Amino acid sequence: MKSFLLFIFLQIIPAPVEFAETGKDCQVHSVRVATGRRASRGFRTMAASLPAFAQKEAYSIDVGKKRIRIEALTEEGAFRAQQTLRMMELSGQPIHCCKITDYPRFEHRGLMIDESRSFKGKEFIMKQIDAMALLKLNVLHLHLTDAAGWRIEIKSHPELTQKAAWRIGRTYAEWEKNGYPFCTEDAPQAYGGYYTQDDLREIVEYAARRFIKVIPEIEMPGHSMEVNRTCPELACIDSTGRRRNWAWDLCPGNEGTFRLLEDVLDEVMDIFPGKYIHIGGDEAVMKDWRECVNCKARMEAEGYSDVHQLQGYLVRRMANYLQEHGRTAVGWDEILETGVPQDAVIQSWRGSSGGRKAAAAGHKVIMSPNTHCYFDYYQDLIRKEPLATGELTSLHWVYTYNPLEGISEEDASCILGLQANLWCEKVPTPEHAEYMLYPRLFAIAETAWSPTSLQRDPVEFRARARALLEVFRTLGYNTFDMDSESDFAIEGKRRTRTGEIIYPAF
Ligand SMILES: [Zn+2]
Repeated sequence: MKSFLLFIFLQIIPAPVEFAETGKDCQVHSVRVATGRRASRGFRTMAASLPAFAQKEAYSIDVGKKRIRIEALTEEGAFRAQQTLRMMELSGQPIHCCKITDYPRFEHRGLMIDESRSFKGKEFIMKQIDAMALLKLNVLHLHLTDAAGWRIEIKSHPELTQKAAWRIGRTYAEWEKNGYPFCTEDAPQAYGGYYTQDDLREIVEYAARRFIKVIPEIEMPGHSMEVNRTCPELACIDSTGRRRNWAWDLCPGNEGTFRLLEDVLDEVMDIFPGKYIHIGGDEAVMKDWRECVNCKARMEAEGYSDVHQLQGYLVRRMANYLQEHGRTAVGWDEILETGVPQDAVIQSWRGSSGGRKAAAAGHKVIMSPNTHCYFDYYQDLIRKEPLATGELTSLHWVYTYNPLEGISEEDASCILGLQANLWCEKVPTPEHAEYMLYPRLFAIAETAWSPTSLQRDPVEFRARARALLEVFRTLGYNTFDMDSESDFAIEGKRRTRTGEIIYPAF
């Protein structure tokens, strides 16, 4: 049985919940799909025992000698089944008669792409949506605004893209070295770009046809230098009475800040129909708030004694604004520290502790800890890899991540799922981005979809990942070269026996 499993599993990531081989090669590939009430009673009974999110995506495939039958409750389930068949076909192996029953472990199976630090554009995003569909990932999170560039057209504030979508410096490092200059589109050496609202609607629709939701992120109040540079009248005021228009944080003391953010979110909600809107909330410096006359006035009016409370004020006010419009805010784990509405979703990035605390407090949680899910980190030794960041985050390391570690059974229901984050300060091109994503995204896909009851053997997974990586190359993706992977990375090493961190240079 093990060899049969190995054979079929070699061709499918994420591994399906149940698989049984029932005969030799299937000769005729006509496919019949039975959804909803047309599905068999047996399938419907099985699906009824699953959580609601898994019912929607559950499917079965019966590969007979002459035909293939798919069963699912919804079109979404039938689509997931078709992706399994497509992956079997793409492998180039003969398709054997078999029965598959399958459904997801987690509701949220995501990928974040940072479009602010390097702008990769619509064609690139759609190509990654195709890959996500094949891997049964279902959430694309777009980081659209940050200090290095504003990437979304806002019709009521065209100055945001006119003044902060183009910069002098092809890479983030060049831009930094040049002193962070922005420019207009027609300037010589201008680097950048932005999505028009039509572009984004096209992306949302393309993703929806593949049952993938898009979560836009509008960063606030930190990581917002581009907004202060564009709208200097909104920036904090320093002790000499001057505007701090190079400041990192937005000014939570200025009502104009909230008018701008509400204008932006109105248009964002119009473009993105999904429930979740990401409002950032990470790494606010809060230094300028101590001196700013507007911030001080806000603190006095609200009875605050600490500037951290201003972060909580801004985040709560914007989360409430989204809630009034029927949406739900998502924020990085810092927002947990300053008080957020109970419905806000917490995205754990500073390790998993924020996620654990949030789940214990009853918040829904997305796990994307920098310890395991940051794909701008090195995937092999420094000496053989392009410039990256962080500790060694090899395929093996990502695959062995357990998103429920240290979480009680009771709190586990709060974990919506997990997500890979591709930050792009050191990832300047679409080709480089694909290199960082594949094969590590395969590991996230399997952890997010496949049950833990399947034997999670990194050696066996590596063999499947290698085979799928070949398929991805054939499809035109630029991938990491697993043939050149060091033993250090293959074995998933990261720390010495005494717990000391080994940097990938060794
Ligand atoms: Zn201020």
